[in-house]
Amino acid sequence: MEKITRATYDEVMMPVYNPLPMVMQRGNGVYLYDTDGNEYLDLSAGIAVNCLGHNHPGIVKTISEQAATLMHVSNIFTNNKTLELALKLTKLTGFEKVFFVNSGTEANEAALKLARRYAYDVYGEQKDEIISFYHSFHGRTFFSVSVGGQDKYSHGFGPKPGAITHLPFNDIDTFSQEISEKTCAVILEPIQGEGGIIEVDPQFLAKVKELCEKYHALLIFDEVQTGMGRTGSLYAYQDLNIKPDILTTSKAIAGGIPCGAVLSTSEIAKHFSLGTHGSTFGGNAFACAVGCYVVDQLSKPEFLQHVKDAGAYLVKLLNELNDKYQIFTTIRGKGLLLGCVMNDKYKNMAGKLQACCGAHKLLVLTASANVLRLTPPLIISFEELDKAKVLFDKAFKDFVEHATQA
Ligand SMILES: *Cc1c(COP(=O)(O)O)cnc(C)c1O
Repeated sequence: MEKITRATYDEVMMPVYNPLPMVMQRGNGVYLYDTDGNEYLDLSAGIAVNCLGHNHPGIVKTISEQAATLMHVSNIFTNNKTLELALKLTKLTGFEKVFFVNSGTEANEAALKLARRYAYDVYGEQKDEIISFYHSFHGRTFFSVSVGGQDKYSHGFGPKPGAITHLPFNDIDTFSQEISEKTCAVILEPIQGEGGIIEVDPQFLAKVKELCEKYHALLIFDEVQTGMGRTGSLYAYQDLNIKPDILTTSKAIAGGIPCGAVLSTSEIAKHFSLGTHGSTFGGNAFACAVGCYVVDQLSKPEFLQHVKDAGAYLVKLLNELNDKYQIFTTIRGKGLLLGCVMNDKYKNMAGKLQACCGAHKLLVLTASANVLRLTPPLIISFEELDKAKVLFDKAFKDFVEHATQA
């Protein structure tokens, strides 16, 4: 066989991504290794997915045992692991019903369909408007991407699904003017992830909740990125003290195995009646077994406390470096979901800074062109964060020396 290199990507892959130059081969804890044997400290965790790091022994054990026991039977039958995970999630959140899927996109697609069907059944077909917010991201199916607040992702694919309104995030006045009896659902991320690590304003959120109740619109929280301990509580809403009617979760739920879920009340869930929705793989025994293991780890109070402490420590380290290099205006976010906002001198150069970190063997993400995003494995230790600081120091030095040159 031909030697596999980054060039192979351009030969055989559809060009929707432009991955960094290395080709990854192996992982261990917070480290990744490429095909040339280079070691990288990973503060991206597969975009907030590998919450327990790479190749976690407990996950590996669960995977191999479940693979040797039962992987998939379809939803024509149920299985013990699906039901076990559903019980865990309902107990931990107080939601009553679960629908399992394989991704964040599918979770949001199902949540939006559920909200539309609920409004259709209870209030009639005129109640179909979905309100979402600019800079939000809800996935890539044509419905979920059209609901998302970034036009560039939904443009150019033909006629868009209708009755979707986009409003400015955290703008109480505009929201209060726009919501009406026609609104069937409002969807938001408690912290906009892809859009730039933008936290919801608690006052805005309280108003959204109040007006959703007034106009009988369902409130959907997309916790695909903020969920599963990422912000220091199992779900971000639990710390905001405002509970949505429908919650979507995915990314980290099975630590790297595709899995997702929609949670809601019995009252709403009954409108997903027999045959109204479905999935071949959703809720398969394999993914749910891993989900059970991961949820057990993430829901421990000491685990969540570690996320808060590690997050605070990482912010401190970044602020120390920023005092030295003056790259960011602010470092924002919660727990281990952090965004470093580029200052005017380096405006929209987050991608360049990301590449610079990569060259220094430190893996980070961006969130929009102007924000460097960090989503480390939640198990990252203080010592590993100290190592990250050493690599950041080198990368930031390199960046400020070369960034503004051609
Ligand atoms: C990643 C993400 C999605 C999409 O999830 P996929 O698993 O890529 O389909 C949706 N919403 C939010 C908030 C996300 O961060």
